[in-house]
Amino acid sequence: MEATTKPADHGLARQAIGRRIVSTGIAELVTHDTPDAFEVRRRSPRSDPAYPQMRHPKPLEGIRAARFLARIAAGEVRTLAAEARGHGMTWTQIGEALGYADRPLLYVDGARMTPAEAAWKLATTGLEPDMPYPPRLHGHAPAVSWDCWSCGQRVSETGIEQIPGESQRGHGFGCEQLAAEVAAADAAWNASIDG
Ligand SMILES: [Zn+2]
Repeated sequence: MEATTKPADHGLARQAIGRRIVSTGIAELVTHDTPDAFEVRRRSPRSDPAYPQMRHPKPLEGIRAARFLARIAAGEVRTLAAEARGHGMTWTQIGEALGYADRPLLYVDGARMTPAEAAWKLATTGLEPDMPYPPRLHGHAPAVSWDCWSCGQRVSETGIEQIPGESQRGHGFGCEQLAAEVAAADAAWNASIDG
């Protein structure tokens, strides 16, 4: 019994932590933007009257604050993806952390997308796999810049299809991360020929 209840408890605790942090963030933002947009009440008119009254942000001000927090969190995901590349993590690993390995991913046209491609799309455009590119993004040259912890240089990465030596500009001479990624790409290329 212990083994089956633990994951659910862990998931509930995660939910509780997330909701508490978001509620606190919303309250702080509403306090900053519109300090008088709070009301003291129960959560719902159907709540037990004995339930303690609490200070809640008014719903519309709460919506504005929640949207703002969601945008900040989305930006943080992209910043952390760039940091992960600087630490030598692959786009596949980043895609897995983003949850893209848990379900089949499809392009807008129905073609299959790898977790690495989905991670690259999110990092360069903020778009999820099934979201179409808006017109202004058609033909744009996407790039992600990051600081390489192996050579200490600023790197601009312009794609995941090309060989690393061409898609990553800025590594210092003899960078070990670049050498490792070139070797991995070579090995994958050879395996695809042999296979
Ligand atoms: Zn480097």
